[in-house]
Amino acid sequence: MKVLKFGGTSVANSKNITLVKDIVSKSEGEKTVVVVSALGGITDLLLNTASLAALQDDTYKTFLKEIEDRHLNTIKELISINSQSRVLSKVKSELNTLETLLEGAFLIGETTPRLSDKIVSYGELLSSFIIGEFFTEAGLDVAHKDSRDLIKTDDVNGKAAVNFELTNQLCKDLITKTPHRIIILAGFIASSENGGLTTLGRGGSDYTAAIVAAAMNAELLEIWTDVSGMYTANPKLVKQAKPIPHISYEEAMELSHFGAKVLYPPTIQPVLAKGISIQIKNTFEPENPGTIITKNKNEKGKTVRGITHVENIALLSLEGPGMVGIPGISKRFFEVLSQSNISVVLITPVSYTHLTL
Ligand code: ADP
Ligand code: ASP
Ligand code: MG
Repeated sequence: MKVLKFGGTSVANSKNITLVKDIVSKSEGEKTVVVVSALGGITDLLLNTASLAALQDDTYKTFLKEIEDRHLNTIKELISINSQSRVLSKVKSELNTLETLLEGAFLIGETTPRLSDKIVSYGELLSSFIIGEFFTEAGLDVAHKDSRDLIKTDDVNGKAAVNFELTNQLCKDLITKTPHRIIILAGFIASSENGGLTTLGRGGSDYTAAIVAAAMNAELLEIWTDVSGMYTANPKLVKQAKPIPHISYEEAMELSHFGAKVLYPPTIQPVLAKGISIQIKNTFEPENPGTIITKNKNEKGKTVRGITHVENIALLSLEGPGMVGIPGISKRFFEVLSQSNISVVLITPVSYTHLTL
């Protein structure tokens, strides 16, 4: 079994979704799980729309209209006239619920993390439904399953932690029971044990695919994106960047953790534990082998594999004689940051009286 994940650009419009269908049709093997992101740009649009609504700025309606048009146009271009009205009416009814949620945020003048998760989930809910319908029409043996029934988490909205024991069991039960060759799943979204909707963090569709791959002991996890693999630097910014044909889990984890957005950092952990390789491929250049990530150390040993950068980082410098020899001072710094859900990426003790975070 293979798990294939297609990111936002790969499913951004009808033309790209048709390329995805060609790739999935050619994938061999008995069973293939296909995980999809929201149509490119929709997650940001949903979050911006929610923020505007919470600020009681009624221009949120213009953004909502854009979200609606993107989905409705994609359906009109992909689905034949015969099935169009059924698919359109299902999507319109979902969009009505989304509109009600946004009206709620507008009326009360705020969004809670829980409401925000509900609003943002429409990206993947709609994309997976539309793509599933298109695949069925194209004659693929496909079933669309609800990721919320498979991926179980705690109830921390925004970036929930996965309950692997429960999730692994649910994945095995549901995927094994499904007779279809292809199973399509929404990435990024999950649900808590008491049924509330949760999400796995920005970029989390990669993680959904890895969780399913590990639960099913898949032979390979393929991450299909808009570049031909993991590069020595972000190829969209550095024109001399070169693709890395083969890299170890540890090296890939380090590059992704420090800014190589092509792979969401938590993705590697579940597949590493099972020794499942990850292949990063380009939807727009499917013949390119891309990058393969395995447990084997690269023969080049400890050479530099790539250069990354992280945006939106704050440098916090704490200094003063009051820090010297006081037990628990570091605990207090980190506690405050953790209470505000701030993740510390690097810690440098410059001297006894100076700590840089
Ligand atoms: P998707 O929507 O398919 O998940 P992402 O936008 O999350 O795609 O990740 C792909 C992007 O990651 C590329 O378009 C590229 O700009 C960026 N990127 C950053 N660093 C790297 C790197 N070292 N190698 C490849 N891509 C990188
Ligand atoms: N759509 C979500 C995001 O943009 C998840 C993903 O695409 O991986 O963050
Ligand atoms: Mg991504």
